[in-house]
Amino acid sequence: MSADLVVSGVNLGRTYGGRSGAAAVCALDGVDISVAAGELTAIMGPSGCGKSTLLNILGGLDRPTSGELYLGGRRVDNLSESEWAVLRRNQIGFVFQFFNLIGNLTAAGNIELPALLAGIPSRRARQRATGLLQQLGIADQADKLPSELSGGQRQRVALARALVNEPSLLLADEPTGNLDSGSAADVLDLIRTIHAQGRTIIMVTHDPKVAAIADRLIMMQDGQIISDDVPARPLEPGRLRPVVEAQAEG
Ligand code: ADP
Ligand code: MG
Repeated sequence: MSADLVVSGVNLGRTYGGRSGAAAVCALDGVDISVAAGELTAIMGPSGCGKSTLLNILGGLDRPTSGELYLGGRRVDNLSESEWAVLRRNQIGFVFQFFNLIGNLTAAGNIELPALLAGIPSRRARQRATGLLQQLGIADQADKLPSELSGGQRQRVALARALVNEPSLLLADEPTGNLDSGSAADVLDLIRTIHAQGRTIIMVTHDPKVAAIADRLIMMQDGQIISDDVPARPLEPGRLRPVVEAQAEG
């Protein structure tokens, strides 16, 4: 397996329930997925089709009931909970639709926490948090509690928290799903910047505008990947139109 493949899932399946006579739900049904270093991948598909299940499995928040998962060439689907905890802390950043910040910690405190848990000395953790707060344009919010921040500011804090241990992989589940359009555009710009810095990103979204910034678009339905392609980008104003379209109009 190539070391450049950040994530590789082979025939991943996830079934919920099915014990004591209840019908089993097949949330993921034989998914093959490989993501190379530096890619920005968007996953779309109807509600309930298994997007979150797939993302959670790729990041070790959930376990597949069948198939194999590799991170950086290492097989990881059979790791223990504590081995996964170390892996997540050091190599994977997560961002969620509802931010999932800790309510009684300040913005800076939320960002520092994963660094402290990874054994980084508190001074260094504080420096990293301060640097990220500056980079994301919310340095003046460092001492505020999540409840004192807007949705867009909370998602910036969540992004900073996800990045504090410099993960090789950033997973984002509907990162703009709970934001007004202005904040969503800002968060999208940040995701673009983080991608331009070379980070591998997989994000789930409902929003075609969000998916349009991706290098690659995976469409899911009923627990399966039904297409895996380069997204159709909207034409930017002023950009040359494709020759065929221009001729058809003339
Ligand atoms: P999506 O993120 O695409 O909306 P999910 O991955 O959350 O979809 O869910 C996929 C399917 O698995 C759905 O039918 C959902 O109801 C089911 N599901 C998800 N989580 C659980 C769970 N913890 N227990 C039982 N069923 C679940
Ligand atoms: Mg979901």
